[in-house]
This record gives sequence, C-alpha cells and structure tokens, in this order.
Amino acid sequence: MGKTTNISWTDATVNFWTGCKKVSDGCRDCYMFRDKKRWGQDPNKITLSSDATFYAALKWKDPKRIFTCSWSDFFLEEADAWRNVAWQVIKNTPQHTWQILTKRPERIGRCLPDDWGRGYKNVQLGVTVESSKHLDRIPYLIYTPAAVHFISLEPLIDMVDLSDFIMPCAGKRIMANIDWVIVGGESGRTAREMKLKWAEIIIKQCRETNVPIFVKQMGAYTAHHMGMGNRAGSNIEEWPEHLRIQQMPKI
Ligand code: SF4
Repeated sequence: MGKTTNISWTDATVNFWTGCKKVSDGCRDCYMFRDKKRWGQDPNKITLSSDATFYAALKWKDPKRIFTCSWSDFFLEEADAWRNVAWQVIKNTPQHTWQILTKRPERIGRCLPDDWGRGYKNVQLGVTVESSKHLDRIPYLIYTPAAVHFISLEPLIDMVDLSDFIMPCAGKRIMANIDWVIVGGESGRTAREMKLKWAEIIIKQCRETNVPIFVKQMGAYTAHHMGMGNRAGSNIEEWPEHLRIQQMPKI
C-alpha cells in the first residue's frame, strides 16, 4: 500500500492482496517478482493483505486516484474469495477514483459485483496490451460497462496498432469505447526497447480520435541509448518535445 507512489498516472496504490502468476511477455520483468524475491518471499504465492492495508482507503478523506492491484492482478482467480469485500471498499469510498488494470480481462465479466450496472462511477477499468499479440484483450474491456475504459501499452515491447478499434462516427473518427491510453517503455536492467516510432503512432491515433494519451516513460533501453539521467527515462524534461504529453481521461 502506498499513500503516495512513483507511478505518475495515479496518486496512491492499494493492494488488497499481493503475489501473482505470470501470464504474458509483459510479465517477464515484473517488479513485484523482483522485489518479493529480494525480500525472500515467494511471488507466486497469493497473500491477502493485512486489514490495515485492505481497508486503508476508507480512512483517506481527501480524494485520490488509487491504482489497485499494483502487486498482483485484481481479477486473479486465486483472489476470487476476497474480491467481493474489495468491491465493498471501492463502493464505500466514492471520494476516490479506483483504477483497475488487468492482464486477465476474460475474467472481468464473472468477477463484477451484482450491483455493477453500468459500472461504479468511481472505477476506471483498464487492460494492459504490451504487444500486438494481446490486442484481443481489448474487446473484453470495451464490451464491459464502465465509467472509464483505458488501455495501458506498457511495457510496450512491440508495435501496437489500434486501427481495428478506430471507426467513423458522425463525420469524425472515434476509438471504440476507449477513453484513455497510457504508453510507456520498460524499466530495469534488462529492459526491452520501445521504439519511439511505436509511441508516435499511438499518439497520432489518439490525436485523430480525440482520446487523451499519457506518455509515462521512455523506458530504460531508450534512456540508456539517449544518455538520459533518469534510468527509467521517466523525466519528461529529457524527452523529445513531441512526446511530452500527459493527458488524463475526462470523467
Ligand atoms: S499480471 Fe502484473 S503483477 Fe501479475 S505477474 Fe504480470 S506484471 Fe506481475
């Protein structure tokens, strides 16, 4: 749990549980795996957090954007028994905006609370798409009702083309039910390259469809090759000017 965080598109993190199972290429260098191993813990073991962490957000009176679960996956099967209580915490903290990002969107439908309706107003639902192989995660997201749908292209390790989700509508071009896009390169010593061209294409597609885009970081590979001072390439001042875009979704 963190009342503050280094993740630039959120204000805080809450992990109702920690531990996970790797599901795809984007998980290769998962920071949770790295840190748990460093502390002698098994990252594959799914562990319910303490009450102090689980219920922390109920005590935070100032509105926050809260990213859950940054050290797991909210829709993990092993957490099925705990999720309804987590939904209660989310529902009972309307002052906060909860950001739920998953690599298991095929499980979203069966894991929503009974009173989800058109989506809780304080929940933004997102999927990670780290490469074109995982574009098939997007339909699960956009056919689920939610106040905000977002996609996180991070760590971007391959060209991702969103053309299939762009269509004409009333004389404009729109991105189907996608309200926000995050893009970023990978962190860490063994980071894979995010070609700047890939980010530029995503930015162009968001611009032409008027979808807010948040460029989070260049990634360690680019930071190293461009001689940036910040190892993850997350200092916006060091980026090419045309990539310095950090927009948030309209609520
Ligand atoms: S889904 Fe997320 S938390 Fe789970 S292994 Fe992959 S990167 Fe790590």
